[in-house]
Amino acid sequence: MILYNNSMKVDSFKSIVDFLAYFKDEQTCQEYFEQIRFQDGEYCPHCGNVLVYRFSNGKRFRCSACKKDFTIKTGTVFGESKISLQKWFVAIYLLTTAKKGVSSIQLAKQVGVTQKTAWFMDHRIRKALAQNKLQLFGNVEMDETYIGGKERNKHLAKRTKGTQGRNLQTKTPIFGMLQRKGDVKAKVVGDVKMRTLEKEIIQHVQLGTQLYSDELLSYSKIGTLYPHQHVKHGIGEYSRDGINSNSIESFWALFKRGYYGIYHTMSKKHLQQYVDEFVYRFNNRNANLGDVFPDILGRVSATSNLSYKTLTL
Ligand SMILES: [Zn+2]
Repeated sequence: MILYNNSMKVDSFKSIVDFLAYFKDEQTCQEYFEQIRFQDGEYCPHCGNVLVYRFSNGKRFRCSACKKDFTIKTGTVFGESKISLQKWFVAIYLLTTAKKGVSSIQLAKQVGVTQKTAWFMDHRIRKALAQNKLQLFGNVEMDETYIGGKERNKHLAKRTKGTQGRNLQTKTPIFGMLQRKGDVKAKVVGDVKMRTLEKEIIQHVQLGTQLYSDELLSYSKIGTLYPHQHVKHGIGEYSRDGINSNSIESFWALFKRGYYGIYHTMSKKHLQQYVDEFVYRFNNRNANLGDVFPDILGRVSATSNLSYKTLTL
């Protein structure tokens, strides 16, 4: 969590009206972002030197060591774009508050940029929403789902788990782990073989954690490492004495509502970033936007530049 000056603390942004009343102009946005970006003091994003000069217009800086100029956006996911901070802020607001996400078409209309720019902004913001490395603990449900291919024609409730062949050329598996009453983690994986899933579990879940899953064979040996119980979906069993994967399945349901209803398609190349977006919103579902917003700006500051070329290659 980002520490920022309390005078900049905003209790809540209950609506876009409140939000825009607060971030009324570019200068306010710049000052707010500066409090977060330079919370430990100003520095040059090119070389790290801390002795920098500010131009009299307040918007540009020059480094005393490498002599290069920069702005508050240089070296962040906002990059050197001409897009105003206010537009970035509104885009973050929309992406953070829309439960199922925001398509670049919607974003373009609401922010007032071209669809190409909106797509670019969307991807950069998602880059800042990458999942943290903290391990889950307590009671953790695990489950896998598939995105792409013929799945898009199916009714949402119609799960294909274990009953139908899956063509990994058209469908991409995502593996999810959800700590009950806590965070979810979800990773795009190449396959759902035992070795693949076990590696993810060991990396993301503390030893000693109680695991729950269905009867997928890939989970059949995880019980040698963690306490593990499973239900048998194959015989219609979905919950028994608290053994279930209902919570992670609710997360998949939300993700798929976004996929089918908002985005319609997600390229395989960027799928992990879409997943990160849904994970971030889910993990902050009870948080106040007044806390979430500076957290995202802190992530924006810490995440290095990403060019349009890198995104589209
Ligand atoms: Zn420098």
